[in-house]
Amino acid sequence: MATATLKRLLLIGGGHAHLFVLETLRKRRSEWHGRLEVTLLSRTLATAYSGMLPGLIAGHYRTRQCLIDLPPLAAQAGATLVQADVEQLDLARNVALGGGREWEFDLVSIDIGSSPSLTAVPGAAQHAAPVKPIDLFLQHWRELQDQIGTLTRPIHMVVVGGGAGGVELVLAMAHRLEGQRALVKWSLVTSGELLAGYPRRAARLMVRHLAEAGVALRTNAEAACIEQGKLHFADGSSAAFDALIWATGAAAQSWVAASGLACEDNGFVIVNEHLQSTSHPQVFAAGDIAVNPLHRRPKAGVFAVRQGPVLADNLLRQVLDLPLASYRPQMDYLSLLATGQRHAIASWYGLVWEAAWLWRWKDRIDQRFIRRFSPPFEAPVDAQSIEDASR
Ligand SMILES: Cc1cc2nc3c(=O)[nH]c(=O)nc-3n(C[C@H](O)[C@H](O)[C@H](O)COP(=O)(O)OP(=O)(O)OC[C@H]3O[C@@H](n4cnc5c(N)ncnc54)[C@H](O)[C@@H]3O)c2cc1C
Repeated sequence: MATATLKRLLLIGGGHAHLFVLETLRKRRSEWHGRLEVTLLSRTLATAYSGMLPGLIAGHYRTRQCLIDLPPLAAQAGATLVQADVEQLDLARNVALGGGREWEFDLVSIDIGSSPSLTAVPGAAQHAAPVKPIDLFLQHWRELQDQIGTLTRPIHMVVVGGGAGGVELVLAMAHRLEGQRALVKWSLVTSGELLAGYPRRAARLMVRHLAEAGVALRTNAEAACIEQGKLHFADGSSAAFDALIWATGAAAQSWVAASGLACEDNGFVIVNEHLQSTSHPQVFAAGDIAVNPLHRRPKAGVFAVRQGPVLADNLLRQVLDLPLASYRPQMDYLSLLATGQRHAIASWYGLVWEAAWLWRWKDRIDQRFIRRFSPPFEAPVDAQSIEDASR
């Protein structure tokens, strides 16, 4: 019997959707064993679960509890993990490049997330600390805490971005440093209204939590430019700061659009309902980096998670020459916003609640997610058949 040609699947980024791809590869190994060679390229060896980031900053978790280790996941999936920062994609040669190395592929999947946009406001790249990549932000936060421990004068910390990420972050930081209220002054600045896209009651409740935490809120204040220690607004006013944290806008890495993939103007990959690039069928993308213009949704981990199983299935279908499955995102999703303490605001289809038990519920959901992708894994469904086949 002729052996099927071995195809090379390259996974770029260890984002939420790729966690499901690795899980599926482990569970369905007998379907692709001997037909596929899988390589995962990731900038970091652990993926930070952003849903738990505010809880980590607030001091409710330790770092280890919020990280998913990629080496055991990749090993169990039969994938080779390489720590590498991809910087270029050559679609004429089907090669990904980074750090002077290159990786050939027949099929590639991109799940590299997004980062706050630092280019729209002059000076932001030089003077602001972006909330992503998360590992770099956590390092910055540790340094800030060390500095605060040695303060002799009050300081002003400003967070720019009034979306879910910015609000949760400022409340988490203020909660962690509650004992230093006399020394640390907090501000949250946003160009529009607070929590745009959320029910207004959720925003009103958040305004109350911000006030209780001592965070000064400035809405409809568009940052125009930044210089050392000073944030200038479009209306001509300004605010002095000692630390500036950037949690606004989502930007794509520039190499993605530079590869010639069909992308929107902001650099996000245009995919169809199969999570496949509309210009290059050998490319799939999911999570924040992907956009389906027919089904636009906010850049939230919940969508990357929902896309994961469909992406995984479609990558295998593509290899096995089967028709691709479709992904249609849900219209709304349950949003649980942490308010600094062990307390959360939930919103779902316009309904809003707040309570401490909602935080405990979120905590259970988040911890279950981490456990799902942490060893020990349940045995692959078809482990026996792989052993049989390899004898
Ligand atoms: C403070 C904060 C709180 C949030 N809370 C929530 C929440 O509660 N619920 C929610 O739904 N969403 C939340 N979000 C949004 C959420 O973080 C993103 O939507 C989600 O992480 C996107 O997942 P992803 O799979 O696209 O990529 P990510 O989870 O960002 O993962 C990308 C991975 O790719 C790797 N990578 C990046 N670039 C490269 C490269 N060039 N080469 C190789 N590897 C690379 C990175 O190391 C990373 O591991 C929050 C965001 C922030 C900032």
